[in-house]
Amino acid sequence: VLDNLKDSVRKFLTGSSSYDKAVDDFIKELQKALISSDVQVKLVLSLTNKIKERLKNEKPPSSIERREWFIKIVYDELSNLFGGDKEPKVTPEKIPYVIMLVGVQGTGKTTTAGKLAYFYKKKGFKVGLVGADVYRPAALEQLKQIGDQIQVPVYGEPNSNDAVGIAKRGVEKFLGEKAEIIIVDTAGRHGYGEEVKLLEEMKNIYDAINPDEVTLVIDASLGQKAYDLASRFNQATKIGTIIITKMDGTAKGGGALSAVAATGATIKFIGTGEKIDELEVFNPRRFVARILGMGDVEAIIEKFQEVENYDKVQKKMEEVITGKGKLTFRDLYNQMIALRKMGPLSKIFQLMPGIGMLGQIPEDQLKIGEEKMKKWLAIMNSMTYEELDNPSIIDKSRMRRIALGSGTRPEDVKELVDHFNLMQKTIKMLKRRKKDVEKLFGGQ
Ligand code: GDP
Ligand code: MG
Repeated sequence: VLDNLKDSVRKFLTGSSSYDKAVDDFIKELQKALISSDVQVKLVLSLTNKIKERLKNEKPPSSIERREWFIKIVYDELSNLFGGDKEPKVTPEKIPYVIMLVGVQGTGKTTTAGKLAYFYKKKGFKVGLVGADVYRPAALEQLKQIGDQIQVPVYGEPNSNDAVGIAKRGVEKFLGEKAEIIIVDTAGRHGYGEEVKLLEEMKNIYDAINPDEVTLVIDASLGQKAYDLASRFNQATKIGTIIITKMDGTAKGGGALSAVAATGATIKFIGTGEKIDELEVFNPRRFVARILGMGDVEAIIEKFQEVENYDKVQKKMEEVITGKGKLTFRDLYNQMIALRKMGPLSKIFQLMPGIGMLGQIPEDQLKIGEEKMKKWLAIMNSMTYEELDNPSIIDKSRMRRIALGSGTRPEDVKELVDHFNLMQKTIKMLKRRKKDVEKLFGGQ
């Protein structure tokens, strides 16, 4: 199942079999996991074909390992399956808006009803809660407590067992009071083996209140059973959206995909704890990262971002060194930050693009110890933007202030400024010399 994918990712990243074999194995495991989560075979094949195609047509960035690159592709494509970069629409498309929550007992419907009410109240909507669970003795009490806590009115009828009537009267009452969003909490189960009755009741409530949206609440740990469950509910009342609860307890998510596959509904929120504010708008990328193993995936994504940053900074440096630009502390600073994770800081100047093109820069200007680099980074951290952009304004009193702020001595600041000036002079000189040489030989 999907929940085993984390292990597959681990195995793939740390395994010793050849890359090609590991890729084949991983793709097979991915297919198996998706199909056993009841994702349509057609969808699975189109996903894995897309992955294979990208493997063929794209190349990993030079500083990223092939295996990590592969996982990034899987992550991208799986995210697309869940909606990609799109966040679901949570603002109601009309007012008033009636949401009916359905789902089996214990999944977190009542809690989620409260979370939703709080979410929309905070957004400025006038919200009402209707408690239509007449089978659990304390159900209404539970909802009322939540309502008190977030100051949202709750409609319920303590000694009634007429769920349909309560739902109807509750919605009507709130409509009469000009509520903008009305959330109807329902029962989960009548008793063992009485599911047919439950679904019938859902249908009757649905017909009575004609909600704008039916939301299926499912527990993240449900797994494959989610497919059947979701399709049965979907037959009784067309499911429009899904909320997955208890995402904090497990990193599972196969059930979610199954429920999506069974209903064609979109996932709208996830519950990440018992507290009233522990509800997040569903984010496909974050969700897939959880399925694949948050730690592994986050580390890989971070590396890709570093590469992107690095490329940007390198481009800027190239402009500075080979073009008209002038080297500033800010360039140097950005360069150091971007490089920090890519290799030892002491190699920073060798790694500057364009330096090679200029010819030889004296060794002692290029080779700077790791310790000194760290000190310099701290010093630059204490500079103002103005100072970073115009190093020439750094006089004695500024040096003292910067030293104090960075926990260094004014001499250290002076050394950096001097070194910087020297570098700038050298670059200028080399640039001039390069131009002369080019003139001599008739241009590039
Ligand atoms: P219902 O029977 O579907 O109405 O479920 P309840 O709302 O009564 O919740 C059942 C249990 O699940 C309660 O103990 C809740 O506190 C807990 N619960 C609900 N949502 C979450 C969640 O997102 N995370 C965690 N950890 N617990 C939750
Ligand atoms: Mg309940």
